[in-house]
Amino acid sequence: MDVSEIAEKLVLGDRRALARGITLVESRRADHRAQALDLASRLRGTGRQALRIGLSGTPGVGKSTFIESFGLMLVAQGLRVAVLAVDPSSARSGGSILGDKTRMDRLSRTPAAFIRPSPSQTHLGGVARRTREAVALCEAAGFDVVLIETVGVGQSETVVAQLSDLFILLLAPAGGDELQGVKRGIMEMADMILVNKADGDLKSAALRTCADYAGALRLLRRRPQDPPDFPKAMTVSALHDSGLATAWGEMRTLNDWRRSHGHWDQNRAEQSRHWFEDEVRQGLLAALTENPDMRAKMRAAGDAVAQGQTTPDAAAATLLAALAARP
Ligand code: GDP
Repeated sequence: MDVSEIAEKLVLGDRRALARGITLVESRRADHRAQALDLASRLRGTGRQALRIGLSGTPGVGKSTFIESFGLMLVAQGLRVAVLAVDPSSARSGGSILGDKTRMDRLSRTPAAFIRPSPSQTHLGGVARRTREAVALCEAAGFDVVLIETVGVGQSETVVAQLSDLFILLLAPAGGDELQGVKRGIMEMADMILVNKADGDLKSAALRTCADYAGALRLLRRRPQDPPDFPKAMTVSALHDSGLATAWGEMRTLNDWRRSHGHWDQNRAEQSRHWFEDEVRQGLLAALTENPDMRAKMRAAGDAVAQGQTTPDAAAATLLAALAARP
């Protein structure tokens, strides 16, 4: 399949063409990179927009179970669902969080769904770019909902939040009354907190945990762009398929509100700007570290600073001037 054929088939919703397209955006080969850019420009005109839902949670909280149940529910409503993963740790663990498709066995066998494991790449910047481009391909292929899953490690939540229209934090019921060490910054990013496993013996703990988080969310500053009762905390059971329809209803309420108040467009515009600036920064960094001449200058300047021959600031200014002066 060449790029024009991939583009043609992809807009018709062909999952194989979509998979080929994502393989191009994941590749580090220069010719693939050029093809990926070509593909992106061919697809830019489709104007299709999916609802992008970011989902974060530590291993074991039930992300795969949730995505399977939630995805099947959406498919039953006639929606097409794509699932992508951001997992900067996948290279270290030797597999990806979505590598084992049997974890989402039924969803992966559904024609209206597309599941793509995280590539094994350590570098978060690379994963972010790949995911961003993959999301765009899924949208061009006509998917209605794109779920972007991440484990709660390092900066990956920030990356996913910056790629999503809605950012959902999935938690497990806590044993005690602690807030499970969820960082304030992550709570602030969440549009909704879902406490999973609200079933059987865990139900009362889940309700307690949910109440704790609802209280904690109320203490955070309310976002002017959202209706007064958001962000919300709710309980669900991914295993028993309960609470999922209610959660989806709330996601739609929030999303519809943002769309009708102009916040949705504004958010996407800000995200585009963020990713543009990020690409520029990455490019500058690459220009510094991948060019042998600049690398040598950097090392020499570092030595000079270490030996007290110049100050860090003066050396940095000289180096940046050298970078700017390059043809
Ligand atoms: P992930 O690592 O976040 O993807 O978590 P998994 O989806 O693999 O689930 C981890 C474990 O929790 C599995 O044994 C699931 O069966 C279990 N689990 C997931 N959701 C629920 C739930 O709603 N209720 C209960 N009781 N167990 C669940």
